[in-house]
Amino acid sequence: MKHVVIASNNAHKVAEIESALDFEGWQFQALRQAGVDSDPEENADTFEGNARIKAQAAHAITGGAVLADDSGLEVDALDGAPGVMSARYAGGHGDDAANNAKLLRELADVPDEARTARFVCSLVFIDEDGAETTARGTIEGRIGHEPVGENGFGYDPLFIPDVFGGAVTLAQVPASDKNAVSHRGNALRALHEKILAAND
Ligand code: IMP
Repeated sequence: MKHVVIASNNAHKVAEIESALDFEGWQFQALRQAGVDSDPEENADTFEGNARIKAQAAHAITGGAVLADDSGLEVDALDGAPGVMSARYAGGHGDDAANNAKLLRELADVPDEARTARFVCSLVFIDEDGAETTARGTIEGRIGHEPVGENGFGYDPLFIPDVFGGAVTLAQVPASDKNAVSHRGNALRALHEKILAAND
């Protein structure tokens, strides 16, 4: 069994990564489970750069295989904001309600057809030997006018993906349906393909 530490303190992300797909022979462990205290400053200006910062910091501590996710929301009418600032859009880190409220304020005068957006997920995997594999996934959609749904986390209650008929938010679908279409699910599937191809 290969042990892979997920370099994230976000319990929602960890749960999604653990359940998104079955990496045969791999066992995922969250940072906390592994007893690792790692919370580096994410000061890169790309998702991939920030994922690399988190992966390298965790790998430097564990010396083993690690997987880091950096992700966020790009809103076209806001020139790609909140982007890499998604977790701290309203100031405090990870205050989902405040972030969603700020996003709705910023888009108050923006009509439906201009509320297009996407979630982006960059993954950086570093193996025991230090070899790095990266992957990226996206999901297209638009921003609603009020939070709807109780599932998921972050901006899910405001994000209406184009799939599912463009009729529900990501917070209204079960976790398995989100994983099947999400930026994180797509990035994980791409990473899996790359790792399998490299080991062929
Ligand atoms: P990170 O932990 O620095 O990568 O910040 C990611 C932030 O982007 C989260 O705090 C959320 O605000 C947002 N985000 C990323 N992925 C998702 C998702 O799957 N659903 C909703 N919000 C997300």
